[in-house]
Amino acid sequence: MNKENTHKAGFVNIIGKPNVGKSTLMNAMVGEKLSIITSKAQTTRHRIHGMVNEENYQIVFSDTPGILDPAYKLQESMLKSARAAISDADIILYITDPYERQEESDLYIDKLNKTETPVILLINKVDQSSQEDLEVLVEKWHQLLPKAEILPISALKKFNIKPVLSRIIELLPLSPPYYPKDMLTDKSERFFTGEMIRERILVHYKKEVPYSVEIEIETFKEEETIIRIRAIIYVERDTQKGILIGHQGNALKRIGRESRLEMEAFFQKKVFLEMQVKVQKDWRSNEKNLKNFGYR
Ligand code: GDP
Ligand code: MG
Repeated sequence: MNKENTHKAGFVNIIGKPNVGKSTLMNAMVGEKLSIITSKAQTTRHRIHGMVNEENYQIVFSDTPGILDPAYKLQESMLKSARAAISDADIILYITDPYERQEESDLYIDKLNKTETPVILLINKVDQSSQEDLEVLVEKWHQLLPKAEILPISALKKFNIKPVLSRIIELLPLSPPYYPKDMLTDKSERFFTGEMIRERILVHYKKEVPYSVEIEIETFKEEETIIRIRAIIYVERDTQKGILIGHQGNALKRIGRESRLEMEAFFQKKVFLEMQVKVQKDWRSNEKNLKNFGYR
């Protein structure tokens, strides 16, 4: 048989409640810091594809935002994309952890039992639970999702990741690759640049500021020895702009400095980063603006 006939490829969608470790898992699988990870919920707003490429297979992992209460239009659009993640996958990785509440699981269980797509249930954060707790969890999930295969893992400690990968490869359908084999992700350098700034804002500001922020990379110019980047940070209110910039601009300077260091490590090149904060009222509930910022 020639290569076309034996090549495997497919979409592996990672779903689960916010903060369960979806992005950490994808990064462990793909081996790069593709999805930003922080301890705050809703960190991942867009679906990100991360590829694992080998001679005879291609796995396309898709990290999805968690299902949340649709209080905002933004969350509605996140909810939609999580639902889509169940319907367009070749393999579903459903991640849970010892802290997941029943009403959070309820959002998924029905859909997962109905789908024809193979479901692998990953019980994450086993580094934080005892053997006994784990046995109880496995039994509980076996009752809830009788068709699913169950594997305990720790995405953070990279425990039991290889068996997950091996099982995925077995389940992959025969198919030519979906992306060029040298591609690591579907997202652009601009996208990751914006995400790095957003991550630093999530880390340093509390309450509503991080969730009111949207980043636009106005310029991304790669020269021989330096990358010149100009970023606009949009907030919803003047007060948020003040908080973001801080006394004598010190807070924003710190965000700039830390973002730049992340970018230099990621791109392996010197970075010149300019940032500006602008107020754009109610971008979250404005359909047109959501589209402009790349939400569907
Ligand atoms: P997501 O919202 O599902 O994408 O979750 P993240 O991947 O952003 O992870 C949320 C938090 O859980 C981060 O602080 C991670 O470091 C942490 N985390 C992820 N996996 C593990 C794990 O296996 N063990 C422990 N102890 N923490 C984890
Ligand atoms: Mg995430």
